[in-house]
Amino acid sequence: MEIEIATIGGYEEVGRQMTAVRAGDDVVVFDMGLNLSKVLIHDNVETERMHSLDLIDMGAIPDDRVMSELEGDVKAIVPTHGHLDHIGAISKLAHRYDAPIVATPFTIELVKQQIKSEEKFGVQNDLVKMEAGGRMAIGDENELEFVNVTHSIIDAINPVLHTPEGAIVYGLDKRMDHDPVLGDPIDMERFREIGREGVLCYIEDCTNTGKKGRTPSESVARRHLKDAMYSMEDYDGGIVATTFSSHIARVKSLVEFADDIGRQPVLLGRSMEKYSGTAERLDFVDFPDDLGMYGHRKSVDRTFKRIMNEGKENFLPIVTGHQGEPRAMLTRMGRGETPYELDEGDKVIFSARVIPEPTNEGQRYQSEKLLRMQGARIYDEIHVSGHLREEGHYEMLDALQPENVIPAHQDMQGFAPYVDLAEKFGLSVGENLHVTRNGKLIQLVE
Ligand SMILES: [Zn+2]
Repeated sequence: MEIEIATIGGYEEVGRQMTAVRAGDDVVVFDMGLNLSKVLIHDNVETERMHSLDLIDMGAIPDDRVMSELEGDVKAIVPTHGHLDHIGAISKLAHRYDAPIVATPFTIELVKQQIKSEEKFGVQNDLVKMEAGGRMAIGDENELEFVNVTHSIIDAINPVLHTPEGAIVYGLDKRMDHDPVLGDPIDMERFREIGREGVLCYIEDCTNTGKKGRTPSESVARRHLKDAMYSMEDYDGGIVATTFSSHIARVKSLVEFADDIGRQPVLLGRSMEKYSGTAERLDFVDFPDDLGMYGHRKSVDRTFKRIMNEGKENFLPIVTGHQGEPRAMLTRMGRGETPYELDEGDKVIFSARVIPEPTNEGQRYQSEKLLRMQGARIYDEIHVSGHLREEGHYEMLDALQPENVIPAHQDMQGFAPYVDLAEKFGLSVGENLHVTRNGKLIQLVE
C-alpha cells in the first residue's frame, strides 16, 4: 500500500498545525490549527470576517493547497486536543473536506463552540466523539486508534493510524505524566505494544527539544502552587491569579487552594468562563457549587465592585491575561480599567510561563510593569510545561522504535536538537529522518 504524508502546517513554526496521511486511497487529516501570533500582531483583525485565502496568506491558518496533490479521499479530520493551534482553523477550513471531525468528547465540544462562533464559513461536517482507547475503521484496510496522553489540557490523545505497512503515530502534543491532577496517566504500555507491532512513522512534537531532563508532572506544579498560596494565608490584602484558561487541572488547583486559605475563588474573563464551564458541564471536573464564573464585561465589573465592597481579603479572582494579552482581564486591571484597585503589596500569581515569542514577551513585559507600578508583587512561573523534554523524547523513540521520524511543531532551529537525539537511534537525515517544511509531501512507501 502506498503511504504518503503531507506536512501542511506547523513545520516552520509552533502554530497552525496540520498534517495529512494517505494510506492507499484513504486520507486522514491530523489537526487544523491557528497561528495565534500571526493574528494578534494585527491589533484590529477579526478573523471571522476574513476569507480563508487571506488568512492563509497572513500565515494564520495552514496553507492546505498541497492537499490537491494528494490522491485519495479524506475520511476523517482528527484534532488531537482542544488548543487553538490544533483546532482553531477547523471553523475556517473543514468545510472543504467531505469528512467527519473525530475527536475526544472535550475536544469535540470546543470544536462545536468554535464552529458556532464563526458560522459564516459554513462548516457542517459531522462531529464524532471517540474516547481515548477507542478504535474506528478508516476505509477497508486502515484503522484509527486514540492513545491516551497527558498535556496541559484535558482529554488529549495521540492518534495512531494502523495501516498494512505499519502504524503511523501522530505524537502532538504531550508530556509524560504518571501522576496527573485530572484524568488518566499517559498510556506508555500501549505505545510500547504499538512499538513491538511495528511503527512505520512517528511524527513528533518538538516544542521543548534541547531542554535537558524530563518535564515534571502536573502534580509538581500543584505542589508549587500550594506552597506559594499557603505562604499568603495571613496576607489581608488583594491576591489575584492568572493561568491558561484551557488548563482545567491548574484552575482546579487554584480554586482548591483559594478555599484552603479562606478566600472565595471567582473565575473572570470570557475564556475562563468558556473552558471551565464546558469542563464542568461535561463532568471532567467538580468545582464547588458556589464557584462564580463570569465572562461578559458587565458581569465581570459587577463582580469586581462586589469584591471591593465586601473586602479584597475575602476573594481570589482567577483571571485571563497570563501572556499580557491587551484585552485580557489582568492587563485591564494593570491599566486601572476595572473597579478592582491594587494596593502596595498585593500579590499577583502567574501560574504560567511566557510563551517565548516576541509578541508575547513584549505584551507580558508591559502588563507586568503596569501591575508593579501599582505596587503589586509578582509570583512568576508557577508552572510546568505540557511538552516533552529530551528524556521524554528518548523514552518515546525507545518505546516506538520507528522506521521513519518526522519532527514537527517547531522551526528549523528547534528541530536541530531532536535530530541529534534521533540519530542516536540509527535514524538518518536524507533517509528516514525527514526534516521538512510546510507544504511538502513525503512518500514513505511507493
Ligand atoms: Zn497543545
